[in-house]
Amino acid sequence: MIPRLKPQLDWRELAAALRPPRSDDVARFERAFAREMGQRHAVAFPYGRTGLALLLEAMGLRNAEVICPAYTCVVVPHAIVVSGNEPVFVDSSEADFNMDLDLAEAAISPRTGALVATSIFGYPVDLEKLEAIRSRHPALRVIQDCAHSFAAEWRGRAVQRAGDAAIFGLNISKLITSIFGGMVTTDDEVLAARLRDLRRQRVRAPSLAKSVRRLLYILAVYPTFWGPAYGLVNRLERRGLLDRFVKYYDDAAIDMPADYLEGLTAVEARVGIAQLRKYRGIVARRRSIAEFYGERLATLEWLQLPPRIEGATYSHYVPRVKDRGAVMTQALEAGVQLGEIIEYSVPEMAAYRGRAGASRPCPVAGQMARSTINLPVCGGLAGASRTVAALTGRRP
Ligand SMILES: *Cc1c(COP(=O)(O)O)cnc(C)c1O
Repeated sequence: MIPRLKPQLDWRELAAALRPPRSDDVARFERAFAREMGQRHAVAFPYGRTGLALLLEAMGLRNAEVICPAYTCVVVPHAIVVSGNEPVFVDSSEADFNMDLDLAEAAISPRTGALVATSIFGYPVDLEKLEAIRSRHPALRVIQDCAHSFAAEWRGRAVQRAGDAAIFGLNISKLITSIFGGMVTTDDEVLAARLRDLRRQRVRAPSLAKSVRRLLYILAVYPTFWGPAYGLVNRLERRGLLDRFVKYYDDAAIDMPADYLEGLTAVEARVGIAQLRKYRGIVARRRSIAEFYGERLATLEWLQLPPRIEGATYSHYVPRVKDRGAVMTQALEAGVQLGEIIEYSVPEMAAYRGRAGASRPCPVAGQMARSTINLPVCGGLAGASRTVAALTGRRP
């Protein structure tokens, strides 16, 4: 079975995970990450959302409005709420799944403190439009959410560097992983120092128990994504038996994981360092698979291809269909698991409906939430060929 996602792990990450810890593992990961992303500072956190919450605090924001996409990972508004601020949701653009920046600018009020610009699915945010907004609103803080995109490029310029700071997520579903974990990068000396101070005050040192849990988790990932076993994993997942591991949100609650203030472990940092060495190769392969899908699926009239945008990193390859359930079932019968990320528009979720920042209509985001499917981008060209065959009903 071709899984909908697959972390790119081999013996290198295994060796890194099993190596005895060194006191500077996390600091070495931060330096390597900052270098790869072309930024002066990188500060590691147990989750990307922890980094975002403390970043907003480090920016001095409290009781402020923070503009973010309606069509984004729900942990983003959770972090905004937990930091004592209010998310204001803005609809998406049909062109690239990203937040419509004209609507975002129209949502700016005297209470607005920051704007989270997300390069969703790896599609780079339009940096020219974003800069025009910044020049008209110089007090506005801009945070690049690069959890999907990492270093996607808008006309040759890396998105993560085009704001006050950027956040990254590093769980196993991301382009590269440090088991769990998150990173904040910035070129701003003062902001980086404040963020480190806050981390020292608020994030406790990871316990030995947490390190053992993370090690066991990464050891379990290897057999889980091993082809012959994955069929069973998929059956368990569909019966809801793996919810503890795969379900990352509760529709009705704004919450954070119990250990969101327990620091990144050394084992995660070492896996992250090994993954950084693969980063460029991973992105190059995804780009060529996106191209392959674009060519092979162009004739299917029931499937709307995602845009091809120069500089995109394709964390997901997301065509849109009318009857998602039927397409997913058809593919599964042909041995290909499709994903349905992102399957919600945040302001429509029970936890956010009725909140002040959820009052703007977001029809495009709602449409996307109901129609996107993700094709596997991790199974190499062989996996992509089987996916094409499953969708076109032909033999590979
Ligand atoms: C994964 C993700 C994050 C961060 O997630 P954590 O699980 O907190 O590391 C942030 N934004 C987006 C869009 C994401 O997909």
